[in-house]
Amino acid sequence: MSEITHLDAGDQRLKESIQRYRRMVQTVQDGVMVLDAGNNLLFANEQLAEMLGCTVESLLGEHLSTLVLDGDFSGGADGQRRPRLTVSEQRELQFRHAEGAEIWGLVRSTPLFDAEGEFCGVRASVSDITALKRAEAEVSRLREQIESRSLVVEQRVQERTLQMEDFVATVSHEFRTPLTSVRGYVDLMLSDPALPPEQREKYLMRLLANAEHLTNLLNNLLDLSRIAEGHIQLDLRPVPLRDVLSQLEEAMTPQFHDKRIDFMIELGALPTTTFTLVTDRESLIRILSNLLSNACKYTPAGGVVSLQTELVEGDTVWFMVTDSGVGIPLSEQGRIFSKFYRGSNTRRLPTRGTGLGLAITKSLVELLGGEIGFVSQEDAGTVFRVSLPLAPELSKASASDSSS
Ligand code: ADP
Repeated sequence: MSEITHLDAGDQRLKESIQRYRRMVQTVQDGVMVLDAGNNLLFANEQLAEMLGCTVESLLGEHLSTLVLDGDFSGGADGQRRPRLTVSEQRELQFRHAEGAEIWGLVRSTPLFDAEGEFCGVRASVSDITALKRAEAEVSRLREQIESRSLVVEQRVQERTLQMEDFVATVSHEFRTPLTSVRGYVDLMLSDPALPPEQREKYLMRLLANAEHLTNLLNNLLDLSRIAEGHIQLDLRPVPLRDVLSQLEEAMTPQFHDKRIDFMIELGALPTTTFTLVTDRESLIRILSNLLSNACKYTPAGGVVSLQTELVEGDTVWFMVTDSGVGIPLSEQGRIFSKFYRGSNTRRLPTRGTGLGLAITKSLVELLGGEIGFVSQEDAGTVFRVSLPLAPELSKASASDSSS
């Protein structure tokens, strides 16, 4: 027997053990191997060979280290030829399959001793646990995935909470300032019953201005929350441009007139009498009137504001609101669409604002499937440009309809 020739002469006990083993291992499912004291294979059964994709003959005489991928079974040059599997133990080893596949075996080993009680080899059974290892790896991959996802969700919740706290703090501040002022004027009037009528009227006008500001603030906040929650009902239908422009002209002209600002509407090459676009009329009016009233607020008396329309590439309409006003400082241009942001140059002006108009405008433009941008130069003026599709895609329209 070839495997027996690998035995040291006289190692009868090991020989007998192998023979006994050979008979026994025909009946077991597991792979079985017997190693000599130097970790060379003396015996392997068919099951082990099959597990490793080779023949029993090719295994015999092989050193254990050539069969396994992990573990150090090579032994040292300094006479330490004792293998690692010298005590009864159970361990998982990764074997080399002849075709390169990954094979995991659960190895249960028992040391063998000769008649003098000297260690002379190891017999071991090898159960194929590859499927189990794969399942374990899959479970830990899924666990890691779940953990990293729940980490992301947790971070998002934290971010949302911080944003919410920030938002509530800003809103409280925005409300507190006019409310403090209201309280101040009421106290002034109550503390002096003999207040001259002109003074009383002045205070009442300030009270009215504060009340109006608070109403604007509240309405803008409600609009923002309706948009964010998807509670805006878009009514997409053909809208004649002529109607929109005349409604805007009628509504805005008095503001410009009061401030002695020249206001004009220019139509570019659009045929006003027939031109229609499919959109939500109310939102379009809101977008353009927000931009026009900003242009009016931030342009000094004697300035010029215009609303121009243009058809671009056949399926996009541009609306441009141009003013000759105070402009937006370059360093602040990235922030003006943020909620509550007011430019440093406009905060100094007597006109009040909520800092929410552009945030609402941008959300509405996006709901209509369009884009908004601007160019501005401080002390020279600003041009806001809104581009809208002539007819928004039906999918977008129905998405916003269904979310409402
Ligand atoms: P509000 O006008 O109520 O302050 P908005 O959100 O409409 O709020 O605008 C945000 C800021 O952007 C304004 O406070 C102003 O500083 C700047 N801004 C908007 N439109 C113009 C404009 N046409 N010219 C100059 N600055 C503008």
